[in-house]
Amino acid sequence: MTPAAPGDYVSPTLLIDGDWIEASERETQPVVNPATGRAIGVVPHATTADLDRALAAAERAFASWRHVNPRERGKILKKAAELMRERQEDIARLATLEMGKPLAEARLETHFACEEMEWFAEEGRRSYGRVIPGRLHDTRFTVVREPVGPAAGFSAWNFPIGNAARKMGSALAAGCTMVYKPGEEAPASALAVARCLVDAGVPAGAIAVVFGVPDTISRHLLASPIIRKVSFTGSVAVGKHLIKLAADGLRRTTMELGGHAPVLVFDDADIANALDMGVLRKFRNSGQVCVSPTRFYVQEASYKHFCEGFAERAGKIQVGDGLDASTQMGPLVHNRRRDAVEALVQDAVAKGAKLLSGGRRIGNDGSFFEPTVLADVPGDARIMSEEPFGPVAVLNPFTDLDDAVRKANSLPYGLAAYAFTSSAANIVRLGDAIEAGMVGINSFNISMPETPFGGVKESGHGSEVGMEGIDAFLVTKTLSVTV
Ligand code: NAD
Repeated sequence: MTPAAPGDYVSPTLLIDGDWIEASERETQPVVNPATGRAIGVVPHATTADLDRALAAAERAFASWRHVNPRERGKILKKAAELMRERQEDIARLATLEMGKPLAEARLETHFACEEMEWFAEEGRRSYGRVIPGRLHDTRFTVVREPVGPAAGFSAWNFPIGNAARKMGSALAAGCTMVYKPGEEAPASALAVARCLVDAGVPAGAIAVVFGVPDTISRHLLASPIIRKVSFTGSVAVGKHLIKLAADGLRRTTMELGGHAPVLVFDDADIANALDMGVLRKFRNSGQVCVSPTRFYVQEASYKHFCEGFAERAGKIQVGDGLDASTQMGPLVHNRRRDAVEALVQDAVAKGAKLLSGGRRIGNDGSFFEPTVLADVPGDARIMSEEPFGPVAVLNPFTDLDDAVRKANSLPYGLAAYAFTSSAANIVRLGDAIEAGMVGINSFNISMPETPFGGVKESGHGSEVGMEGIDAFLVTKTLSVTV
């Protein structure tokens, strides 16, 4: 393992009304490198006065930012993307230090975040409406799209660069301002994205980045009439809680919540490809991905071969510090997540699941857990219904298409789902029948900047990215004009 060099990490600040504010007298919490278990810095908690200042600045900045021509707003966002590209190496390193993902994955995340920022820059120019002739010849109805107002954004730590770019980029492109609270686990990565936006010319106050006790911060922000929109990425439980808080002011919400993605592998599929891709995607970011493939259902004739192939491939994954170039999978974000994953695996095994690979924590330093493969997992094992958000694949057989669809749709989640088959009839049926916001057929690639990202059922509502990502920050006004 390569330890982080001293001086690699500078403790994060708050960003409020254009000021980068250090901890000073504020409460702090440590930022821990999960590869070593050691603190690398501290993150300041925003005080009530800090939050009020951020809210007031967001309101003030909105009054002018909403009127900046979308093309000009786009120029600033494009410049921010350029700066992110220039700073990619530094930004990626921060994410690896803070939450453990391999550096190569953090670089890719930065690359996609730049692409999304550019998409928002361009798509924001299309936030216009339409003109409709009235019933009388001298009347016109004009439908205009307007920014909804200052927004509050909250997101998880698992893609600290990508989530920050998505939340702030889409709000700004639509003409909104945002008070953003990233995960306290990876604060500097999110701040680095904010730094690119500020350096590119986003005016003071249009974005704030704050940290603290999440529930305290969200209650305070959502109690303010200034906030007109809530965009959240995180667990189902917190999403439901925030919707209740948002309901008081009838604020609009976008909820990107958890998933428990099924993967249906039919006998007629290219099984080797499903195995290669499936293992790669399962253990990406140590399985801490909302669209991570989790419940693999394999048609009976191919099941045994699939189980053997999956366990063999998983057993070869190189686990270690994300800064080490040979590492393919890093640690989990913290010990609590590792312990939660361990408990799910132990529960499944106790209830009769077969452990084909992994299943144990690694070493005493850091939050490492082995890439784990479970087969023949009984339905009452917790992992069959609770999102593992960790490096565990769950394998079970199915008989026919109806059985596969029933199993895939059996949970309240509906974020991503995948299927591998060469049958055109299966593809059509699956496309119709699967209850998910994103379905990948013969592919795990379900997201591009141009395509909406979001779930159905308890995985949430609304979308990020795609033209829907901008739409989420717009409201509609109808003007009736008689001349
Ligand atoms: P979490 O819901 O506990 O936390 C997510 C984020 O919300 C963190 O920044 C956390 O600090 C913050 N948060 C927690 N309580 C809050 C509150 N009361 N008010 C405001 N913010 C609050 O989830 P987690 O375990 O840290 O993250 C993993 C979850 O996020 C998984 O369920 C995963 O599927 C989901 N997720 C979803 C998407 C998506 O796009 N659908 C993407 C990434 C992660």
